Amino acid sequence: MAEYPGLGEVSGKRVLVRSDLNVPLEGDAGAKVITDDGRIRASVPTIRALAEAGARVVVTAHLGRPKGAPDAEFSLEPVAARLGELLGAPVAFAGDTVGTSATETVAGLEDGAVAVLENVRFNPGETSKDDAERGEFADRLAALADAFVSDGFGVVHRKQASVYDVAQRLPHAMGGLVAAEVDVLRRLTVDPERPYVVVLGGSKVSDKLGVIDNLLEKADKLLIGGGMVFTFLAAQGHGVGSSLLEEDQIPTCRDYLARAAASSVEIVLPSDIVVADSFGDEASARVVAADAIPETTLGLDIGPASGATFAAALSDARTVFWNGPMGVFEVAAFAEGTRAVAEALTHVEGLSVVGGGDSAAAVRTLGFDEAAFGHISTGGGASLEYLEGRELPGITVLEAN
Ligand code: ADP
Ligand code: MG
Repeated sequence: MAEYPGLGEVSGKRVLVRSDLNVPLEGDAGAKVITDDGRIRASVPTIRALAEAGARVVVTAHLGRPKGAPDAEFSLEPVAARLGELLGAPVAFAGDTVGTSATETVAGLEDGAVAVLENVRFNPGETSKDDAERGEFADRLAALADAFVSDGFGVVHRKQASVYDVAQRLPHAMGGLVAAEVDVLRRLTVDPERPYVVVLGGSKVSDKLGVIDNLLEKADKLLIGGGMVFTFLAAQGHGVGSSLLEEDQIPTCRDYLARAAASSVEIVLPSDIVVADSFGDEASARVVAADAIPETTLGLDIGPASGATFAAALSDARTVFWNGPMGVFEVAAFAEGTRAVAEALTHVEGLSVVGGGDSAAAVRTLGFDEAAFGHISTGGGASLEYLEGRELPGITVLEAN
């Protein structure tokens, strides 16, 4: 007999675990190769703890963005195989999420065994905005289990059937991964140790502008890199060539710059940029001043002087949150800005947090030891929404009852 925190006795019980197994894959359907298994590895401890406690573990997760119908391109089968390797135990795979295969697979589980259900987003009910449609699907998921553990941090900001509605239908608990993530986020928002430096980059410009709004009051310094740089440079009146630019956000960026200037918070923008003649074109990569980006080029990384400035700004920080690569790190010629920031984070004394799927992948693919960072978060969007001061439905629902 054994217990799981928050659930009590789980031995012999069917426990549905919502994990985040949304990993990058390459290759054709049927022969997919996982290029970064970080999220699977992060999901292992909770699954293992439940299995060791004698639960019959039923894992549900999504992969990519299928359109609410089965699509071999987005099958979780290779992910289930990798999970089995990491667990060192066989993992059963159900070819559907709540159909005959799922029912039979779950019925066949012995105590301490693990099954993975096919991509939950093959079902339109998962992401439906219609409460009734979502609820109907959640009923079917809940029927497969006696209890629910929410461990997919990357999705807790989504009001989806396997994240939100199912928790209303089963005894539930927060998984160890989600609990650890929430603990770190609290340390970033409630009385952070200072200096508190936030580094933002990546490509989802408008996604991340909201977090600046909230952190403008909390952080001491905001270092901006990645694609969003160009909307800020445009807000300062500079040309950005054909770099990523969200023109409708220019007034917002202008407002942030004005607010920072009027407060004790400093927004640090890069002084130099690595540009190229076309996307990912390494041969034409060169460094230019941030206020003199040639019209025929586009910016793909922060320049070396900016990398050094950012590293210096991080050197005495006691709390750091970093989300979003500084450049197109997937291409070697545009990875140095991201490398400089990652390197600086490894020297931070205090709490250093890396948030975001691509940022975490960048840290790993650039060869850094994950242990050198205080915490590598598995959920970019969820961390950002929390840091924006918004409620995460997948967390609220667990705390509600
Ligand atoms: P995360 O997953 O860490 O939250 P994002 O998804 O927001 O990060 O952004 C990651 C992507 O941003 C990377 O694929 C990277 O190539 C891209 N990126 C970074 N800088 C630029 C840039 N200057 N122009 C275009 N894309 C960029
Ligand atoms: Mg991303």
